[in-house]
Amino acid sequence: MTTMQPVPRLVDQFERGLDAPICLTWELTYACNLACVHCLSSSGKRDPRELSTQQCKDVIDELQRMQVFYVNIGGGEPTVRSDFWELVDYATAHQVGVKFSTNGVRITPEVATKLAASDYVDVQISLDGATAEVNDAVRGAGSFAMAVRALENLAAAGFRDAKISVVVTRHNVDQLDEFKALADRFGATLRITRLRPSGRGADVWDELHPTAAQQVRLYDWLVAHGEGVLTGDSFFHLSGLGAPGALAGLNLCGAGRVVCLIDPVGDVYACPFAIHDRFLAGNILSDSGFQNVWQNSTLFRELREPQSAGACGSCDHYDGCRGGCMAAKFFTGLPMDGPDPECVVGYGEPALARERERPKPSGDHSRGAGATRSGQGPVPLKLLTRPPQGKPCNESPL
Ligand code: SF4
Ligand code: SF4
Repeated sequence: MTTMQPVPRLVDQFERGLDAPICLTWELTYACNLACVHCLSSSGKRDPRELSTQQCKDVIDELQRMQVFYVNIGGGEPTVRSDFWELVDYATAHQVGVKFSTNGVRITPEVATKLAASDYVDVQISLDGATAEVNDAVRGAGSFAMAVRALENLAAAGFRDAKISVVVTRHNVDQLDEFKALADRFGATLRITRLRPSGRGADVWDELHPTAAQQVRLYDWLVAHGEGVLTGDSFFHLSGLGAPGALAGLNLCGAGRVVCLIDPVGDVYACPFAIHDRFLAGNILSDSGFQNVWQNSTLFRELREPQSAGACGSCDHYDGCRGGCMAAKFFTGLPMDGPDPECVVGYGEPALARERERPKPSGDHSRGAGATRSGQGPVPLKLLTRPPQGKPCNESPL
């Protein structure tokens, strides 16, 4: 008689890591036409060492060999690369589906028609306010109109199920119903994500991250209306606010296990929100390709080892919350084996009030004084509510 081996739970398999990432983000460029105050990659200027078209195609070939079925392409604003559409076509022709994030700048009616003709390309339009006033305060003047125009063009071209991607902040958390209505209007799906203190987001996190009372309202909204709303791994730190399992989404930090980032110069980080030397696993050019970095880097092997629950071990919510987001802790200068800065039990606030050293950023691609990630204090949000004409940040990102 043969003994049936128990099938490992998916979450246990994820914790040990997979042969290929299931959530691979690839930032093609740091160039961007906007200068959002919370940009996680401090984007603005192109890095002259950016991967060439051929190097990008080599990455796609490798992803195909690894059976990575789709890649999230971002930036910067990826569509400002002159070879962007060529790379999208190359990826889909090589069985690598593309979901790309854009502020909408290049989604003209012609482009929308081309996109609507492909089954393997998904488009995610970033919007951080359901009104121009709220959105443009963080993303820059005119950016709401630009995003809505892109959504209109996609809908008119018959593109099905575009995504509207929202970073939840103190100023838009009460607009969730409006975001949902906007998505419904365009036949799109709403995706909401957590504001992490990464990149320029570190400068504005104190002012923009939702308050404890707002976190509760956000949780209640997700439980009541979250079906069909995408959240990824954004809100598992809120799971202690209700019954276990009430929140959909991945309740695990997948950094280096199922998630990673390739940046514009080929550096591989554990997660898109962890662009810092501490989380740098290697480089695809100097370390024999992406597969080698993913499967063999010391950092990723370390992240796939069982992690200590640390100070969260005695918390009743540990199974759902697991101490929260590694990047959020790291960039706020909190211990990695301690509670999340937005811990729902309330351990975050006193920890943030204590003296702590915030890690300096490893890279800054910002343009101009209004959008620097320099550790020189908060970014003055009101500067960015005016058109950037004549400002240093209006220089070409290319
Ligand atoms: S570090 Fe945070 S954002 Fe990155 S995978 Fe872990 S939980 Fe997600
Ligand atoms: S103490 Fe830790 S596990 Fe418990 S809710 Fe706070 S961050 Fe999550």
